[in-house]
Amino acid sequence: MNQADPEFDTDLLVIGGGSGGVRAARMAAGRGARVTLVESGGTAGLGGTCVNVGCIPKKLYSYAAHYAEAFEESHGFGWQGEPPRFDWPTLKQNRRAELARLNGVYRNLLDGSGVEVVYGHARLLDAHTVHVSQGPAGGAEPARLSARHILLATGGLPLVPEVPGSEYLLTSNDMFDLEPFPARLLVIGGGYIACEFASIFNGLGSKVTQLYRGPQVLRGFDDDVRRFLGAEMIKKGVDLRLNSGMSSITRTAEGLRVELQGGGELTVDAVLCATGRVPNVEGLGLDAAGVTQGDTGAILVDEDHRTSVPSIFAVGDVTGRVQLTPVALAEAMTVVDHLFGPPPGHAPRSTSYELIPTAVFTHPSVGTVGMTEAEARRELGVISVYRSEFKALKHTLSGSSERTLMKLVVEEATDRVVGLHMVGPDAGEIVQGFAVALKAGATKANFDATIGIHPTVAEEFVTMRTPVAGGR
Ligand SMILES: Cc1cc2nc3c(=O)[nH]c(=O)nc-3n(C[C@H](O)[C@H](O)[C@H](O)COP(=O)(O)OP(=O)(O)OC[C@H]3O[C@@H](n4cnc5c(N)ncnc54)[C@H](O)[C@@H]3O)c2cc1C
Repeated sequence: MNQADPEFDTDLLVIGGGSGGVRAARMAAGRGARVTLVESGGTAGLGGTCVNVGCIPKKLYSYAAHYAEAFEESHGFGWQGEPPRFDWPTLKQNRRAELARLNGVYRNLLDGSGVEVVYGHARLLDAHTVHVSQGPAGGAEPARLSARHILLATGGLPLVPEVPGSEYLLTSNDMFDLEPFPARLLVIGGGYIACEFASIFNGLGSKVTQLYRGPQVLRGFDDDVRRFLGAEMIKKGVDLRLNSGMSSITRTAEGLRVELQGGGELTVDAVLCATGRVPNVEGLGLDAAGVTQGDTGAILVDEDHRTSVPSIFAVGDVTGRVQLTPVALAEAMTVVDHLFGPPPGHAPRSTSYELIPTAVFTHPSVGTVGMTEAEARRELGVISVYRSEFKALKHTLSGSSERTLMKLVVEEATDRVVGLHMVGPDAGEIVQGFAVALKAGATKANFDATIGIHPTVAEEFVTMRTPVAGGR
């Protein structure tokens, strides 16, 4: 690693104790660097969005919601009797306890690797200096810290539009501790967070209406996936209204009255606005240090994640690129390798944005890696498309009408599988494995030569033989 520089208080000062920040701090300290991490949310902020108000609590609530249909489906398999009653306070309390445990794990990992953790809000003063003041969770005495390198990992924030009654809009941050449980929930938005919360609260027993201004949910995903998921969510009870929006909200004795664009109204108990996220740069002092931002406020970085100021780097959601935890982790490790050298025996890492697999934890879930059919047609020319829609074996007895979609997109010229998409149970678990194959350049012939695991849903990916569409 580079020699510690007595000119500065620390070698690396990380702002933000979320996915990217914690990973970078730990790895850099492991290479012998002096590292300070500043987190504004106190100990309870450690782990950032993913641990506290994102991936982890959302997935726990998704598990909770799945029990509703599991109890119902069990009758077909011989289980009798009334389903148990759902208790919202128990779920909230158990989630809080698990997150507190995880905050502690993060704290111990940082302490164990020798990172100095400072609780407070950090603001850049110049290219090497940060001012720390008390954050929302209290913490540090005001201080100035100098650092040879600074890493910005402050994440993102939900965006709430200005509409009459926007003070009644909730964001995804508010959904985990809602009190009371919303019997009637309106979800605004069609992205993955909106669809996931619609599925979760529908499963837990809310009457969910979802409004999305676009023609189909999950913009940017494969069109078959979008159409299929939309239809499945409706079958499960979400009142999904496309090409729709709301114009105002007022409180009445019956609840929140929501005026719909184009006429009509709804009365609900809570309104979740999940229409997008913005980089969290407020009060960060980017101007003072001369850090350049793009149109959306995202911090602009080069391929080494270096900002316009050579001593300042940025990773994760604040750079507004791919907003996923594993991507923030990969970016953090790239920065550490770049600044302090790779682990012994390894080449320095770079972050690849190709073939990033992702899942949407809706009911049913979505898993996807690689190009959509439309992208492949546009960018590769001649392709073949393999698609299968079917009722999974489990649902022959469960009574559920849920169906599964599996799809492969193959480049004709090379036979490479360039896109793999699924809507169905455990889609994320299944697609994670296939993502390795795509990353390794697997061809359709490789898929055909792979023996399926029977009886599984996943075997369909290696047994589809006849293209349903082809050409340009
Ligand atoms: C509802 C929801 C569900 C999600 N689900 C998934 C999922 O299933 N899978 C997935 O991969 N990703 C998911 N994500 C995205 C994932 O959470 C983010 O991509 C990831 O957390 C980004 O990490 P980060 O390090 O950039 O920032 P964050 O994890 O947001 O951490 C930023 C930290 O910086 C702190 N901070 C901010 N400003 C300052 C300051 N000035 N001084 C000191 N500290 C500061 C904040 O308190 C916070 O702790 C989800 C996000 C949301 C909102």
